[in-house]
Amino acid sequence: MKLPYAESYKIKMVETIKKSTREERERWIKEARYNLFNLRSDQVFIDLLTDSGTGAMSDKQWSEIMLGDESYAGASSYYKMKEAIKEICGFDYFLPTHQGRAAENVLFSVLVKEGDLVPGNSHFDTTKGHIELRKATAVDCTIDEAFDTTNYHPFKGNININKLEDVLKKVPSEKITFIVVTVTCNSSGGQPVSMQNLREIREVADKYGKLVLFDSARFAENAYFIKKRGKGYEDKTIREIVKEMFSYADVMTMSCKKDAIVNMGGFIGFRNEELFNKAVVYNILFEGYVTYGGMSGRDMNALAQGLKEGTEFDYLESRIEQVAYLGKKLTDYGVPLILPYGGHAIFVDALRFLPNIPREEFPAQVLPIELYIEGGVRGVEIGALMADRDPVTRENRFPELELMRMAIPRRVYTNNHMDHVAVALANVYERRNKIKRGVKIIKEAPILRHFTVELDRI
Ligand SMILES: *Cc1c(COP(=O)(O)O)cnc(C)c1O
Repeated sequence: MKLPYAESYKIKMVETIKKSTREERERWIKEARYNLFNLRSDQVFIDLLTDSGTGAMSDKQWSEIMLGDESYAGASSYYKMKEAIKEICGFDYFLPTHQGRAAENVLFSVLVKEGDLVPGNSHFDTTKGHIELRKATAVDCTIDEAFDTTNYHPFKGNININKLEDVLKKVPSEKITFIVVTVTCNSSGGQPVSMQNLREIREVADKYGKLVLFDSARFAENAYFIKKRGKGYEDKTIREIVKEMFSYADVMTMSCKKDAIVNMGGFIGFRNEELFNKAVVYNILFEGYVTYGGMSGRDMNALAQGLKEGTEFDYLESRIEQVAYLGKKLTDYGVPLILPYGGHAIFVDALRFLPNIPREEFPAQVLPIELYIEGGVRGVEIGALMADRDPVTRENRFPELELMRMAIPRRVYTNNHMDHVAVALANVYERRNKIKRGVKIIKEAPILRHFTVELDRI
């Protein structure tokens, strides 16, 4: 028999999590105005809100915390991080930032101006937010297959090269400075981008004289998928694949709360010294001095170690196979999911799960509410609420998909927890026809409204 995969680590410390009753959860979610971000974490049994900054650090990372150098300038921790970035991603210059969106804020202060277009594959919400804040527009050039949740395509994060070239051809050149490639593509379901596609994007970018930016939060998970699904990569190491991926980028931003398995941190990696120098000014203004940015020395140390652990095959296999384990259970129960399963999360198709709820009543928000009440599990809406209103018309925007995301924190939960999640959602699925109405908005912010929106049941 082939040995099953097993975690490439064992547990040295545990944290107690609390169960609750259905009555308590019904009261708490009402008090939270039906927004799961408003729940207190101790009201949640299994927290799949995000895999961002929620991972478990290793003993080696905690040791690095003790070795942190908190010097204002030139700390050894800065050089540790610099070496790890050079070794793994291949970039010569970098700026530490406190998280991914801070990296976007700094970099886009240089690269984005009013009226610009930024083509890419389903931009992440903060990426889009930072583009729109500067009165520019994100143009989604993702392949059409990504929006068909039943279509098994191995690289649904891919950019449609024709769509991309159309944009580049039609728009005056000065309005487009760069192309964003999100690896893996969070917004289309944690789906990877193929090496072939990265190569083609590079060619198009060169043809039109554009920069290529990798939004790299889950670059290692992307590399794992390339190894598993990309022809000719079976025998390459994750590190080799990562090196090749980044060879097609000019600049990278990274939320290290994902694949670097730290609770806080991020950076911008640059190949070009001139661009780096321009960004330095904004980094000092918004984040901190060049050699710490938004980070403590100890956190830069843990990050450097995390980059190494996050690019080990055995770790990635246990991580991604755990996500697939949950996916398979749910598939067996008949729950409609995005296929193939994502690297960091399972995405439930709310339009197929709750076909009776009109989109104006936010079916993808109803699902996490019901899942929470059922089993104390916290998922999150990736749908019309998150899509915000159109910045010009102020009308609700309805994206192609209405999804509930269940993101799995790294090295945190066991497969018994996954079983609990699967049964809770299967129970909601069984009573789905009794769920007839959705929610309405009581109060909302003008941008990134899903974080603070207040809702009521209709
Ligand atoms: C998380 C994430 C970001 C933003 O990073 P934060 O650390 O949350 O600020 C940007 N892009 C992608 C693809 C992400 O997943």
